[in-house]
Formats: sequence, C-alpha cells, structure tokens
Amino acid sequence: MALSGAEAARYSRQIILPEIGVEGQEKLRQSRILIIGLGGLGSPAALYLAAAGVGTLGLADFDRVEVHNLQRQIIHDEMSAGHPKLESAAQRLRALDPDVQLRFHPQGVTVDNALELFRQYDLIIDGTDNFPTRYQNNDAAVLAGKPLVYGSIYQFEGQVSIFDPAQGGPCYRCLFPEMPAPGEVPNCDEAGVFGALCGVVGSFQALEAIKYLTGAGEPLRGRLLAIDALSLRVRTINLKKHADCPVCGAHPTITGLQADRYEWSCQVPEPDDTAPTMSGQLPVEISVEDAHALLQQPEAERPLLVDVREDHELAICQIPGNRHIPLGELGKRQAELPEDRPILVLCHHGSRSLRAAQAMRRAGYEAASIRGGIDQWAEQYAPDMRRY
Ligand SMILES: [Zn+2]
Repeated sequence: MALSGAEAARYSRQIILPEIGVEGQEKLRQSRILIIGLGGLGSPAALYLAAAGVGTLGLADFDRVEVHNLQRQIIHDEMSAGHPKLESAAQRLRALDPDVQLRFHPQGVTVDNALELFRQYDLIIDGTDNFPTRYQNNDAAVLAGKPLVYGSIYQFEGQVSIFDPAQGGPCYRCLFPEMPAPGEVPNCDEAGVFGALCGVVGSFQALEAIKYLTGAGEPLRGRLLAIDALSLRVRTINLKKHADCPVCGAHPTITGLQADRYEWSCQVPEPDDTAPTMSGQLPVEISVEDAHALLQQPEAERPLLVDVREDHELAICQIPGNRHIPLGELGKRQAELPEDRPILVLCHHGSRSLRAAQAMRRAGYEAASIRGGIDQWAEQYAPDMRRY
C-alpha cells in the first residue's frame, strides 16, 4: 500500500534522504521489530523507531517503573512509577504516533517463548543488561535466523553491534563462547550507569535497525562499536565469525534453548575447602581482620597481596604493596605467583577473589581470599579510601 498524504508529510524529512526515499519509508512501515527491555537502551530505541515510522513494535518487559529508573529510562515518567513499563511505554509511543502497531509481551523473553516470539519479527533489539538473557537472546536469534542489534553499557563504556549469522556475520558467542562464571565479571556489583550514554547506545541501536531494514549504508555486521564516554574516544573493532562457534558454527552444540544453559546466580560460590594447599596453613577464605594482621607482619613473613580486580577499579582505590593480576589474566600469569610465600587475594567484595584463591590452591599455591574485599577493608581500616 502506498504512503498516504499524511504519512508522506509526517516522515518528509526522512523521505527526502535519497538513501531512505519513499521505498525505504514503505519498508519501515511493513517492518516488525521486537524490543527486549524498556530500560536505558530500549527507551531511546523505541522512541526513535516509532518516530521513524516502523510499522509494528513488539515490546517485551515484565518490570515496573521505579523512580530511580528515570535517570536514564526516558520513555517513562514520574507519573508511571509503580506501573508496568509496557503500560507507560505504550502510552508514550501512542502519544508520539497513534498509528504505530504495538504488541505486548509482558512475560518478557524466556526459553519457552523466545523462538516463537523471534520468528514473528524481522529484527530484534536487545536492550537487556545481564549475561543470562544476553546469551539466551543471542542463541534464540541465531536459531530463529533473525538479526539482533546488540547494545551494552558498563559504567562509561558503551558497545553496539549487529549479530547476523544468517547473512554471514558473527554472533555474540563467536566473541565470548561461554557465559562467564559468577564472580568472574563485575556484573554482580551494583554498577553505576551514565544516563546519557544509554541514550547514545540505544539511539545507535535504532539507527542500525533502520539502516538494516531500509538497506541504507553499511551495517555494523562483523564490527563492534566501542564508545568510551569519558575520553569520548570511539573505536570500531573488526569481529570474526568463529568456525567453531557453539551456536552459529559449522557443527553447533547448541541447537535449542535449554533453561539450564542460562542459569546464573550472583551468589558467591561455596568455598571449596577440599582444594589442597601447599602447606595447608591458610583456609580458602579469611576475614579482613586476619588479613590485616597478616599484612602487618615483618616483610619476611608477610603474605603477598594479589589484587584481581580490573585496572579501572584499582584506579579508584587499592591497598599499597599489592601485585595486580586481573582475574582474567591469572591463568597466563601464574608464573608471577610465589611458590614459597602465602598469597592473600583481594577483589571488590570477595567473590572474584574466592574463585581466584580456589584456582590458585588447585594449582598448588597457598592462597586465601579476603572475605568482603577491599570494600570491607575500607570500612574497617581505611575510612578515607575512595569506595565504589
Ligand atoms: Zn557465533
């Protein structure tokens, strides 16, 4: 069906772009996009997609609006606090354009509904912010053969890409084949979020979706856009499709969605006391008090303090005299650990350090994790230390 006069007028500034034109506008009107999560990324994405005249928007979210969301989730407002996000998003989108067709998925995306849901749409926008759903959405998109526009935020760093193995591009698992274990990533510590950066990343997601659906320009397929908001440096990293990818590779091991593949808990793993130690003197986990006492000893008897946090965390605060080995580098830098000296392992709250200490003990080192991490240390021994 041809565009009506009202439609031509509404979208005129976009239609006169030669890369879009009447044809592109008609394609957008026929398009169906699923937006997963109406939070920091989904809010700007949904607003721009509705404003651009995308015909059908599917909204998947099971959450309610809270006042502390409003700092970044700009589709909601003060009046919608306490109400389902779908409700307030729908109100705002209909106020923007009464003709946009909305479909609601109040259960969100689950292993049970993902494939059927994704098949109903032309493109998926992932606006979720945790690992299990990110992997679940990636796998479902690959299995359903649909392009997925990925966006993520961590503090001041934003990332965008489009995963589209059906057109020869890589998927998220080509980059990170397995979900990180709880404690290996800072996901569990409540991280700060820079609202305007959500706006930037969510808008890039909308932009990529519109380009993809209209065929304008060059999609971000096989490339990752990384934005560092503090320095405002933007890099594009080339990504490779992995022949051995467990979901989009030549011989995939993931051929359906199984719930146990996406289980993840932020609980600190149980101490593994069965792991032997070199001399058996230190337990796998010790209190901040004990760690403090050990580190006050004369140099010759003092354990080595190994901090397994990331660079940017050490830049905020650290205990003098530590050796810095981020958790992810522990395997390849094992030779730097002393075999004749006990090791105390430190992280932010004691979760990553516990995993590190367990791994070191399995490798024959005498290592203990400091329970409560540097945060607890600051509280008890360093009131002036910067905390996060
Ligand atoms: Zn892949």
